[in-house]
Amino acid sequence: MSATVLVLLDHEETGALRGSVLEVATAARVLADGGAVHGLWVGDEPLDPALPLLGRHGVTVVHAVTTGDADPHLTPVLAEALADAVAASGAEVLLALSTFENKEAVARLGVATGAGVVTDAAAVERDADGRVVATKSVLAGTWTTRCAVRADLAVVTLKAGSVPARPVDDDAPTIPEVVAREVAVSDRATRARIVRRTAAEPSDRPDLASADVVVVGGRGTEGDFAPLEELADVIGAAVGATRVATDEGWIGHEQQIGQTGVTVSPRLYIGAGVSGAVHHRGGMQASGTVVAVNSDPEAPIFEIADYGIVGDLFTVLPQVTEALRGR
Ligand SMILES: Cc1cc2nc3c(=O)[nH]c(=O)nc-3n(C[C@H](O)[C@H](O)[C@H](O)COP(=O)(O)OP(=O)(O)OC[C@H]3O[C@@H](n4cnc5c(N)ncnc54)[C@H](O)[C@@H]3O)c2cc1C
Repeated sequence: MSATVLVLLDHEETGALRGSVLEVATAARVLADGGAVHGLWVGDEPLDPALPLLGRHGVTVVHAVTTGDADPHLTPVLAEALADAVAASGAEVLLALSTFENKEAVARLGVATGAGVVTDAAAVERDADGRVVATKSVLAGTWTTRCAVRADLAVVTLKAGSVPARPVDDDAPTIPEVVAREVAVSDRATRARIVRRTAAEPSDRPDLASADVVVVGGRGTEGDFAPLEELADVIGAAVGATRVATDEGWIGHEQQIGQTGVTVSPRLYIGAGVSGAVHHRGGMQASGTVVAVNSDPEAPIFEIADYGIVGDLFTVLPQVTEALRGR
């Protein structure tokens, strides 16, 4: 059943695409099933450098939308831009990355349009009747559910790492056509105003939500994340934390993994001084390989770990770092 699928093209202020957007475009191609994949670019950041990459991943049309004086970082504004692009593209399916902002925006879109919305999906496909079906883990990772969308418009946010990005089998893919327009945003969407935005300190480490490898610290670090950061830098990992560690102020709240934090699904998760409480597991259960370092052999994290090291993280991690540094 071929259809038009619209993909929200998350990008940095430089215009660089967020890595996992190409994963979402790949999933969109499968759902489109021979139909068209359109992209939605919201904002006035430079789009041209991203076009060849989007073309290589099957996007044929990009709706380049600006919102006048309304800041598209506000989710009501983004929701109206999404509604506009859905109408303009004729899309039956909208896919976006699972970020806090996107989830809030698609929820607003669902309320406004009656779309069927599934957030934090780990996979998306069509069933035998052609309905969009999203797989997601719920109740802190204790259940896996499959949700079939019954509304005319299906909206799914996909977690980073759910689908490997795959280019089209075409030696000379076409550059997508760009359709530019300004969306007239309602007064209602701009009742809140962003008065200031401060960029986070630039970090050389990968983005936590989409990193391939994450090193995570908990209460067992007692606030000393240095051994974790050294290991992370040697293996190119992002650094995450439990809620205890962020509540203590040992590391920023944006690094918190779990039910009330970021959901991660890296190929490799290394947890040190992390007990593996259910609220934490809810945000990392989809990880590929789980390695746990904990001094307590009864720690619950060992129940889900593929490799466990019973020991003091301050002894174990520097040895691991040293061994890997030589490689
Ligand atoms: C509504 C709600 C939402 C929540 N959301 C989240 C969430 O999103 N994310 C989250 O993480 N938590 C969340 N929590 C908190 C969660 O329930 C746990 O309290 C928390 O995850 C525990 O963090 P921890 O593993 O760092 O600490 P602890 O459970 O105290 O575990 C510390 C571990 O470190 C080990 N350890 C100590 N010293 C060392 C050492 N030197 N070397 C090696 N190991 C050592 C100990 O054996 C222990 O297993 C939430 C709680 C509630 C009620």
